[in-house]
Amino acid sequence: MSRDLRRPPGPAPESEPRETVTAVVALGANLGDRAATLDAAFAELRRLPLVDEVVPSTPIESVAVTLDGPDETAPAYLNAVALVRTRLAPSVLLGMLHAIEARHGRERRERWGARTLDLDLIAYGDVVSEDERLRVPHPRAHERDFVLAPWLEVDPDAVLPGHGRVADVLARLRGGGR
Ligand code: ATP
Ligand code: CA
Ligand code: CA
Repeated sequence: MSRDLRRPPGPAPESEPRETVTAVVALGANLGDRAATLDAAFAELRRLPLVDEVVPSTPIESVAVTLDGPDETAPAYLNAVALVRTRLAPSVLLGMLHAIEARHGRERRERWGARTLDLDLIAYGDVVSEDERLRVPHPRAHERDFVLAPWLEVDPDAVLPGHGRVADVLARLRGGGR
């Protein structure tokens, strides 16, 4: 008797082979040796299974943003973006990003508190997901210069799904929201 191997309708299960997509990962560090941490994180991204290519941006400095707003007295961030060409499912990739954070001693105490390493999945191809465990595009990416500027450096034609060209989103942000 032959089994029906077609899968039921709905999204592809995580285990199923997928196409290669470009994921955009934002990196941030404001504790410890920030540059060394970002370099190590780029290397760890390259070593992930089903990751073919990692294109890192130049790290940039940015003022820490806390729940009370920008804080010039808090340790500044070093931020960067990596384009990650991968066949990992988005939820699996996010789990691996959390594992890399954990290896760098990330602790979650207060929201937007200082951290050795934060890895956010900014976009996964043109996928849109509003599941709170996996929101893509990242819901605050469009208002963050420190995400958009390094992203534009590594992909001048980048598009933020739902918001348009990253170059335009950044120009609007810098122009005061017009
Ligand atoms: P922000 O999200 O504003 O940058 P944060 O990075 O400090 O803040 P975290 O504490 O690192 O926030 O993450 C909050 C939760 O968001 C985590 O439980 C994480 O699993 C979940 N999450 C959902 N979608 C994403 C995504 N695209 N990238 C990273 N984390 C996500
Ligand atoms: Ca973040
Ligand atoms: Ca995060």
